Amino acid sequence: MKIMTVVGARPQFIKAAVVSHLLRKKHTEVLVHTGQHFDYNMSEQFFKELDIPDPDYNLGISGGTHAEMTGRMMIAIENVLAKEEPDWLLVFGDTNSTLAAALAAAKLHIPVCHVEAGARTHCMTNPEEINRICTDHVSSLLLASTQSGFDEMAREGLQEKGMLVGDPMYDAFLEYSSRIALDSIELTPLTGDKLNVPKEFYYMTCHREENTNDDKDLLEIFKATEMLDAPTVYPVHPRNKQRAIRLFETHSFTKLILCEPVGYLESACLVKNAKRIITDSGGLQREAFFAGKKCVTILDFVVWPETMVDNRNELSKPNAEEIVEKLEHEQKIDHAYSPFGDGHSVERIVNALEQGIRQEVVLNEVCTDRMRKDKSKSH
Ligand code: UDP
Repeated sequence: MKIMTVVGARPQFIKAAVVSHLLRKKHTEVLVHTGQHFDYNMSEQFFKELDIPDPDYNLGISGGTHAEMTGRMMIAIENVLAKEEPDWLLVFGDTNSTLAAALAAAKLHIPVCHVEAGARTHCMTNPEEINRICTDHVSSLLLASTQSGFDEMAREGLQEKGMLVGDPMYDAFLEYSSRIALDSIELTPLTGDKLNVPKEFYYMTCHREENTNDDKDLLEIFKATEMLDAPTVYPVHPRNKQRAIRLFETHSFTKLILCEPVGYLESACLVKNAKRIITDSGGLQREAFFAGKKCVTILDFVVWPETMVDNRNELSKPNAEEIVEKLEHEQKIDHAYSPFGDGHSVERIVNALEQGIRQEVVLNEVCTDRMRKDKSKSH
């Protein structure tokens, strides 16, 4: 079986790492990197640290508006799909790379498998929500990470194509989060010299459009870190780096460590050792949960409802007092509660692709030939 996997952003590299390693034992994988994330510490470092095979194609597409980026990716991905003629297109998550690849493949009648299907925020101003919904509706195989994802699919009438497999981010966390020691991590501050991670610290990531498109919200979030009882390590995403540096330099924040993004081994180690987590990232919310760390999520919608139990993860507005107050709430951990699976989702993903291709052949026996013949023509 030939599977073409399209990745483009940091969280997809992490999922691709665990899936690729198993997939390649039995099948041929063509790995396509769209180029959406391209800085060394947002891309290449992940390929090196996680031993991800080199991409067969790097499309070098990033930046621009959502439509520009998605459109350019669709055109380039269509060319690769036409050349490679894979049995499956495999995509992860909710980025523009995910949507572009899914649309291009669906229009060529190449079946799409979407991992992390069914995740919903019910907030249509969240750009990733549009990507999630559209990708799910053009996919042939929908692999949900959690029961809530599967239930969301069912509500949209997609359950026939759906399967609950568990979360490959959990598999990755189990595999990689103990590979390095905290004292081996060297942070690269955006202003100043390299430094080690403080003994006690909070770990923060914050880069969503919702929090970083103007000064006001990001400044409030920075103010919250000033009110905490330990420094906050904040690796800054390139999209809001300039704003973060400017705010940091024009206010006297003493407890905030603004630094370059770290690799996944470092990030997972920081999660495990932090006092508590502040984030607006879907991945980090789950990793906080995996590590049993209290998390405050600065968003006004829930992406992973399974984490929102017993004070383990709470939503906050970008308001300093609210963030600090919620961080102080004590969580309760039920160790028997494991909504992200058993750490073997990758086996189920590969299995589903193997079973799915057989189903696809049977179901589409009659029309596949005709579809493939005129697959590149639009009307
Ligand atoms: N992460 C990382 N280095 C960093 C910050 C985050 O490796 O400097 C990891 C983090 O541990 C998580 C993933 O990146 O696994 C989350 O990616 P991101 O926040 O970009 O996307 P999201 O999860 O919100 O889709």
